[in-house]
Amino acid sequence: MPVLLAAIMTAAPAEISPTLLSRITRSVAARLDEIARIGRDPRGGWSRLAFTNSERDAHDLFQRWGVALGLDVHRDSIGNSYARLGHSTQPAVMIGSHLDTVVTGGAYDGTAGVVAAFEALNLLRDGPDLRHRLEIVAFAAEEGARFTTPCIGSRFITGQLSLPALKEIRDVDGITAYDAARSRGLDPDRAQTEVWRPLDVHCFLELHVEQGQVLEAAGARIGIVEAIAGATRLVVTLTGAAAHSGTTPMPLRKDPLVAASKIITFAEETASRYARTVATVGRIRVTPDSPTTIPGEATFSLDVRSLDAIRQREVSAEIVRYAEVVAAGRRLGLAVRVLHDQSPHMLHYWVRQELTATVASTGTPYRVLASGAGHDAGVVGHLIPSGMIFVPSHGGISHSPAESSDPADIALGSFVLAQGIRRLDEYPLT
Ligand SMILES: [Zn+2]
Repeated sequence: MPVLLAAIMTAAPAEISPTLLSRITRSVAARLDEIARIGRDPRGGWSRLAFTNSERDAHDLFQRWGVALGLDVHRDSIGNSYARLGHSTQPAVMIGSHLDTVVTGGAYDGTAGVVAAFEALNLLRDGPDLRHRLEIVAFAAEEGARFTTPCIGSRFITGQLSLPALKEIRDVDGITAYDAARSRGLDPDRAQTEVWRPLDVHCFLELHVEQGQVLEAAGARIGIVEAIAGATRLVVTLTGAAAHSGTTPMPLRKDPLVAASKIITFAEETASRYARTVATVGRIRVTPDSPTTIPGEATFSLDVRSLDAIRQREVSAEIVRYAEVVAAGRRLGLAVRVLHDQSPHMLHYWVRQELTATVASTGTPYRVLASGAGHDAGVVGHLIPSGMIFVPSHGGISHSPAESSDPADIALGSFVLAQGIRRLDEYPLT
């Protein structure tokens, strides 16, 4: 019998007892409360942006948790934090997520996965030794909220973002990701020696809140992610002529904001024609930004995502072509810059199979689904067998102070994560 099949057939069913579930649930809630004290935003929710003091404070808490559990903790040159169980030189099973948030974000995105990783490790250390090293990771700067480029920590440490590129990525104040990292005592220049080597990592598993409504609608408590949508992120700048709003007749205007509004509407219409494809304009800036002046310039972001790599680029290109037509018709200048372009990613087939078999063996209602949001697992997955477990988000709300997931679902997810690690520990992935 093939080894893989044998592993599947001999795995015992593993339902979670109500006592164990409530113990993990209490621990999950306590850890989430502790993180939630860091980076509260007076406008609502949490703002722990990439390479800010509050993000670093959350990473300090991570290290304290690791030390309290007797784990080996360290931080790499870009600010990812690690907590390792034991001193085995075997390849690692890496588990974790991120601790930064968007502006006025929620309390579960990223944090749920880090907390679940600690709970899973706690469950596993009570059982027989694993063949692989078990290591928790909290990635730095996952959200694209500050630098537009997401997953800076995971990209950089897996060699998918170079040092020169890190020096080109800027926030709205012109501060580069490189300088922002250095201002927090990190030293990206020494990353060369730290980059993850695929042979050193057996697999990477990330638990995350779904940030959508599929699981809740289906009455499922666990999701196994099969694919992560790709994203193309553009900045579109239209240049016209600033002029007096009272004295400039309509036919003589060169108004870039009206042109932008047409392009934004077109983006919505275009993405709506296709399944599993979305387009969003989330940021717009107008200069001089005065109620009595026709704008001279309008700049907006465009974020196109799809589970189909070709459609993702075709929709982006179609919107750009339309922008060219609108700009030419209105005698406006047009500049389009590509900030980020990541293809959709199918998560590792065998990891998915094992996670699916794991959740099925617990008797938990589950769904296999795709992720519309990007994740560190999608980045790491380009090099290392990776898998994702979702837990339901109430109302599908995320990137908002109203984001909410049930700690009992996160606890159940932690249990499935631990059981999945047991299976994958035995599994010849490489
Ligand atoms: Zn996240």
